[in-house]
Amino acid sequence: MFSTQNNLKSMQDKALESLRAVMDPDLGKDIVTLGFVKELSVDPKGVATCTIELTTPACPVKDQLRDQARQALTSVPGVSEARVQMTAQVRPLSAPARDRLVPQVRNIIPVASGKGGVGKSTLSANLAVALALDGARVGLMDADVYGPSIPAMLGINEKPGSDGHRIFPVERHGIKIISMGFFVPQNDAVIWRGPMLHKMVQDFLGVVDWGELDYLIVDLPPGTGDIQLSLCQSIPVTGAVIVSTPQDVAWQVAQKAIVMFDKLQAPVLGIIENMSRHVCSKCSHEEAIFGEGGARRAAAQLGIPMLGEVPLVTRLRAASDAGVPLVLSDPAHPAAQALRGAARALAAGVSVRNLSADERPRAAKVDAAGLAEISIEWTDGKRTVQRARDLRLACPCAACVDEITGERTLRPESVPDTLTAVSVHPVGRYALQFVWSDGHSTGLYGHTYLRRLAGLS
Ligand code: ADP
Repeated sequence: MFSTQNNLKSMQDKALESLRAVMDPDLGKDIVTLGFVKELSVDPKGVATCTIELTTPACPVKDQLRDQARQALTSVPGVSEARVQMTAQVRPLSAPARDRLVPQVRNIIPVASGKGGVGKSTLSANLAVALALDGARVGLMDADVYGPSIPAMLGINEKPGSDGHRIFPVERHGIKIISMGFFVPQNDAVIWRGPMLHKMVQDFLGVVDWGELDYLIVDLPPGTGDIQLSLCQSIPVTGAVIVSTPQDVAWQVAQKAIVMFDKLQAPVLGIIENMSRHVCSKCSHEEAIFGEGGARRAAAQLGIPMLGEVPLVTRLRAASDAGVPLVLSDPAHPAAQALRGAARALAAGVSVRNLSADERPRAAKVDAAGLAEISIEWTDGKRTVQRARDLRLACPCAACVDEITGERTLRPESVPDTLTAVSVHPVGRYALQFVWSDGHSTGLYGHTYLRRLAGLS
């Protein structure tokens, strides 16, 4: 008996050890180190049972992790069968940053765009429903005061209920919804100023009974300026999503958003390119009408993730007009699949942020001011030295690169050999902004981009 128990214990230890081979690709660590393995046991018949608790039910690699865990467990001598259950517990943004206003909301994720009409509300609605379809508890706050379109997109005609103290969000398609459209008479010209917006957000968050939420998606008004900043200032933002179209100068939109969210000490979690390519509803012919790759290039240069590319398809518009988001009404549609993928990539980004496992090397010390050679010490101990002129020539900004074609428009002969950096400014955890001696300063150099230019990974 004693030896049987010892055997089981040793098998259990080996089973746990075997799970160290299962890596979470987003978090870059194995599932044992990450503390994901719960309740592991092996019974006398050799059946191993374990629960793996992920940080989001919308994990993009859930099935892959389950299969790998099963494989790892059955490779342990004596284990004849492996039963792996997948669960999830969404981690909140670290405690001090969470607001008293919304202690039950784990993550607040604003969705921003450079201008209106790019599909920000469509994507917000579909992302929210997609996360709920994966099992997360989701709220959607339509803060787009200039054109609150969420109620129509979700087929909501009723108003939220209230008990005199609290407002209860409308529940539809598995998510909780509050919109300015519920409170403002349609066709009323509403002119919102910063303080009113601030108050509106406070009311929304403080008075609305959201209950426990894993994710609250906030559909911001278009633009990345003061109004949006003021809107987000009263809430503890986990990180933002940027929606851009191929016609946008994605790089500029993303850059402005990074600067804006940097003031809130929140990262941009990623870009989604909407209306990426047109897919003909008759013949399925695909065409990149407005060029392609702008958002992808912007993301790569700024070192922020590309969460997805959603095609321009009539079905997506028609689904919104009919009040049922495409991810629900036509889940097999390629655009719906792209949206599900983007939602999972976003959920993974949130997990990474909250576990602070974003261990990508960052610039720790920069020597640049007045110098023709720029030296950077990185958090991984590496050091790079780059000619100021070479960096100036590699400026990724829209004035130096044609965003649609990706062609460099800056002429090398226009940059003097003697160019130096006048000053350098860190932008969040992502990028450096240089002021060059030729007066140019609009380029944000993502850390990843700078390292790549220097030949580091
Ligand atoms: P925004 O919130 O940025 O102002 P909306 O989400 O209201 O933009 O979208 C503007 C219009 O474009 C809507 O009619 C919407 O249905 C449509 N639309 C958005 N994305 C797509 C897409 N990928 N394919 C087709 N129509 C789209």
